[in-house]
Amino acid sequence: MTHIDSLIHARWIIPVQPDGVVLEQHSLAIQDGRILDILPQSDARTRYQADHIIERGEHVLIPGLINAHTHAAMSLLRGLADDLPLMDWLNHHIWPAETKWVSEEFVRDGSQLAMAEMLRGGTTCFNDMYFFPEVTAHAVTECGMRACIGLIVIDFPSAWANSADEYLDKGLALHDELRNHPLISTAFAPHAPYTVSDAPLERIRVLADELDLPVHMHVHETAAEVEHSQAQFGIRPLERLARLGLISPTLLAVHMTQLLDAEIAHLAASGTHVIHCPESNLKLASGFCPSHKLQRAGINIALGTDGSASNNDLDMFGEMRTAALLAKAVANDARALPAAQALRMATLNGARALGLGDETGSLEKGKAADVVAVRFDEIECQPFYNPISQLVYATGRDKVTDVWVAGRQLLKERQLMTLDAPSILARTRIWRDKIATT
Ligand SMILES: [Zn+2]
Repeated sequence: MTHIDSLIHARWIIPVQPDGVVLEQHSLAIQDGRILDILPQSDARTRYQADHIIERGEHVLIPGLINAHTHAAMSLLRGLADDLPLMDWLNHHIWPAETKWVSEEFVRDGSQLAMAEMLRGGTTCFNDMYFFPEVTAHAVTECGMRACIGLIVIDFPSAWANSADEYLDKGLALHDELRNHPLISTAFAPHAPYTVSDAPLERIRVLADELDLPVHMHVHETAAEVEHSQAQFGIRPLERLARLGLISPTLLAVHMTQLLDAEIAHLAASGTHVIHCPESNLKLASGFCPSHKLQRAGINIALGTDGSASNNDLDMFGEMRTAALLAKAVANDARALPAAQALRMATLNGARALGLGDETGSLEKGKAADVVAVRFDEIECQPFYNPISQLVYATGRDKVTDVWVAGRQLLKERQLMTLDAPSILARTRIWRDKIATT
């Protein structure tokens, strides 16, 4: 018998890689935070002696979900202003509220609220873009989740920095600090083509090449953004980014609802990743990302929720289902974006976009043990034919029972192990009362 840290026995395991595989009555062996083995339960029980034995006899194990685009701290603005178009919503509601309230405390409390929600919904890793990224990074470290922290850059001043250069300098200092962090990586996060001018974008391109970091940016979110660029620069935003040398495998282009066929071909040839945020696009009526065309072109598509102010939740189960349903409607083809592909977008494709494809995103030997258990024994999940279909089309995040990140259990039978839920709720109520009265 080999002595190991943990052994999880589950009814099913969906490793995501290889594609479409469902293992029945298997076990996952964890040692030093990594997946040591995936094998039939009968073999696991004779081969391994574990410090922690977890029986999940009516559950499916999946890789931790990866929320490839969010603004975690905006959770405190959930429901503040709804049913408005993007620029009205930003100019008259979100940006004024942020100008008034965003601070270290706001970002700490908002990030903790977001992480609590994400963990309870099976998300183990998120790709963030927000002010005071060092505060989010600190909250992530305390909590034990995995994250890619965006080094935000925007032309206008905020409580965090006054100029694009100051954002970049502070971001670089944070990147240095986090360089050897086991669970946190960093990405440049210029907000959008319409809020960041050419000079900082040029500097970002040079630095991203030098440091080998992803560039995480909202691109072609709305038709208005494209028109604005044509009026100001005479070209579409993607063309401008191409001239600046930013269309490359390091670019994570978020939204992409306005795409010409020639642009799709260019994105595919360049290896650009697309982050699809279907619910945010639907709620702000931004347009439809043609995910079926992107997929056909071979572009890596990951999924994100966007911030809680525009979604209004951080529910990757909901995002998977919406992505699958929306793709069918947009393509006018029920075969577009099958369930297994939606799950892959929410896991392995996200990891690949973040440069973490060898570390997380699937349950494979040697990868980090970022694992989620989902119970399938309740009324809403019965009867039961196909675990992948059930997961995407019939299961909600409330069926998530347990979450491990790098082998450490952060959610145990729906209880948060590293976050103080009563304290988070109390602080959230105080913020609500302050923000609501302004
Ligand atoms: Zn966003």
